[in-house]
Amino acid sequence: MDPTYPPEAQVYREKVQAFLAEHLPPDWAGIGALDRDDAVAFTSQWRNTLRDNGFLATSWPEAYGGSGLTALEQVILAEELQRAGVPAGGMNDVFSIQMVGNTILQWGTDEQKRHFIPRILSGEDVWCQGYSEPGAGSDLGNVGCRAALDGDEWVINGQKIWTSAGHLANWIFVLTRTDPDAPKHKGITFLLCPMDQPGVEVRPIEMISGDSEFNEVFFTDARCPKENVVGEVNGGWAVAMTLLGYERGEAAATFPLMFRTELDRLVALAQERGATDDPVVRQGLARAHTQVELLRYLGLRSLTQFLGGHQPGPEASTFKLAWSEHHRRVTELAIDVLGADAMVPSGRWPASSFQTDDPGAPNDSASWVGTFYNARAGTIYAGSSEIQRNIIGEIVLGLPKEPRGADPGSWREQQGGRS
Ligand SMILES: Cc1cc2nc3c(=O)[nH]c(=O)nc-3n(C[C@H](O)[C@H](O)[C@H](O)COP(=O)(O)OP(=O)(O)OC[C@H]3O[C@@H](n4cnc5c(N)ncnc54)[C@H](O)[C@@H]3O)c2cc1C
Repeated sequence: MDPTYPPEAQVYREKVQAFLAEHLPPDWAGIGALDRDDAVAFTSQWRNTLRDNGFLATSWPEAYGGSGLTALEQVILAEELQRAGVPAGGMNDVFSIQMVGNTILQWGTDEQKRHFIPRILSGEDVWCQGYSEPGAGSDLGNVGCRAALDGDEWVINGQKIWTSAGHLANWIFVLTRTDPDAPKHKGITFLLCPMDQPGVEVRPIEMISGDSEFNEVFFTDARCPKENVVGEVNGGWAVAMTLLGYERGEAAATFPLMFRTELDRLVALAQERGATDDPVVRQGLARAHTQVELLRYLGLRSLTQFLGGHQPGPEASTFKLAWSEHHRRVTELAIDVLGADAMVPSGRWPASSFQTDDPGAPNDSASWVGTFYNARAGTIYAGSSEIQRNIIGEIVLGLPKEPRGADPGSWREQQGGRS
């Protein structure tokens, strides 16, 4: 691990800081200080500002409209945006740019790159992720949503679930079962499907907070063109795994900063409420401080690799496990500090269901109760804690693998021959 940046980092950092000073209001306190509607409006306009100044899709080659930043510049930019409390893109860009855009650039045909990449940047196409199903989450290879060729089109039938921001998207990338008679990981195809058609129905799922940020998506004879396959027909598993690598890749630079800001807010909350004399709270805060420092060092280790030109490997699981378990514990501590007030939360709720509340958010009880709910989801999405522990045990530490039974046969046989 090398915890220092080379001298050119400072030059680029000052360039980003000058851009932020020019484009943010002088009294800017972070997006969390805006009310929800204003935050949504700001995010959409800010995305355009980032794009027009070459700060969106920063890893993409300039030939495809990206800004072709070096790995070091990408990291510095992400850090400065995080420090300034502004988003690094639009609401769905984690799916549009980070996941499917990167995947199309790696696996797509020239025609797919020419067609889809500019439309992602312009915001004309907004994407969501159609991976999970009621019977396929941790065991993603079990997907049963079917696709079959009918002339020049794929016809899709089945269901996806937990589709984050699916109600805001007009395209979905779907893992489909195209050969049920092959072993389960070998009969999967990665399709790009327009959602604006009668065969695609999006049903919101209401969460414990009352918000609906994710959805069920039902496909009933939905159609997409034959050429909307990414990678090989029945070779979608490799494409799906590439995409998940992008899902886990970017947090190393920004999460330690984000969790430090959150811990500072929690200390302020404990001070406001006179809880810092309580030895149990003090112990919890000290533990949280230690965890945030560990995250910082884990992040620096990943960054050293990234800056050296390597993509994060299975050890990214250590980071995912560490941040998500830390976040659960630290938000439980916040609930302890709030005491009975946590039962009647008031004030501003977090605007998003992911990770911490936004920088600049008021230290309201609703902010902490909402973040406490979100933290539970963090140990499930992008691979649950149990799955991360399996990866760490089996792949990073080389411990004996879970016993596997006899050859399970084809996907159809595993379903009892019914599907
Ligand atoms: C907030 C949120 C947003 C999401 N957004 C999306 C999205 O946009 N698109 C999408 O496709 N999906 C999305 N997901 C779904 C997510 O990927 C799945 O929830 C996750 O993969 C777990 O799958 P599951 O819910 O089916 O649980 P299951 O796989 O059924 O797991 C149930 C429990 O069993 C444990 N378990 C399972 N297998 C093992 C094993 N081999 N060893 C030990 N323990 C095991 C799990 O850890 C878990 O505790 C989202 C989920 C959440 C919470």
